Amino acid sequence: MSPVPLLTWINGEIREPGDAKISIFDRGFLFGDSVYELVRFFDGVGVGMDLHVSRLARSLDETGIEGFDPEDYRSICNDLLAGIGTGDACVYLQVTRGVQVPRRHLPDPGLAPNVIAIASPSPSLAEIGEPERLPVALVFDPRRERCDIKSTSLLDNVMMTIRAEALDACEPIMHRDGVLTEGASSNVFVLHDGRLLTPTLGGERKILAGVTRQLVIEAAASLGRTVEEADIPVETFRNAEEAFVSSSRRLVAAIDSIDGAPVDDGRPGPVTMSILGELHRRIASETGALQGR
Ligand code: PLP
Repeated sequence: MSPVPLLTWINGEIREPGDAKISIFDRGFLFGDSVYELVRFFDGVGVGMDLHVSRLARSLDETGIEGFDPEDYRSICNDLLAGIGTGDACVYLQVTRGVQVPRRHLPDPGLAPNVIAIASPSPSLAEIGEPERLPVALVFDPRRERCDIKSTSLLDNVMMTIRAEALDACEPIMHRDGVLTEGASSNVFVLHDGRLLTPTLGGERKILAGVTRQLVIEAAASLGRTVEEADIPVETFRNAEEAFVSSSRRLVAAIDSIDGAPVDDGRPGPVTMSILGELHRRIASETGALQGR
């Protein structure tokens, strides 16, 4: 892939990264008072785009951030992809509650949101080879309760990722009371005793409704395999036959070790491989459909 620069979009204008600036009084900057999404594009097709738009609508609704129509995410992505000249990219979008002077916790009514987006070129489907293999570290989940909202208040996620790196791991997998929740930027799946498990959505321990998590569940179903939502004890995870994480950026990445101990023989297992293969097939058929139009 020839290197293509990042491109940004700020409140309707395409800007070069060096010129991508907003006020220090922006509430997203001062308080993490903003929500975000990231969509992976292959050949100009946003993977799970409708799910991203509806999750963004929910995030805006739950936080009461007003003044942005989540449907506009689609055209912002198209503008940026045209600007970077490739359909293989990630497009990050952030909607903040807006600028308020002076700084105070209570938002003024009627603030205009700041909307920013960043497109970064990413490998095409053909360029993705073997599944990524991740060493992970188990860490206590210290986050606030409302981690079902995709907000940019991500200090705990950042700190857990730094902790994982210090433990030679690429992703922290978090638990509460010895029960798995999710990764710092991913959902987690565990094959144990032949059953494919993932932490429950909307249960006592809240997690993000990952778009890729949903696509994995659908891909598994089309392969005749049910994904069971369950409380997964840490010990079940440690004794997994296979385990993987899902996210828009990575799609599916095999977990090859947990706290330094290999998962099975450390290689991506057959269930992980078949689900990733099915995801690739589904994406390829969508991009093919687009080309045929
Ligand atoms: N869980 C958390 C905490 C995340 O930050 C993310 C992605 O950023 C995910 C799960 C995966 O979500 P998605 O598949 O929608 O990218």
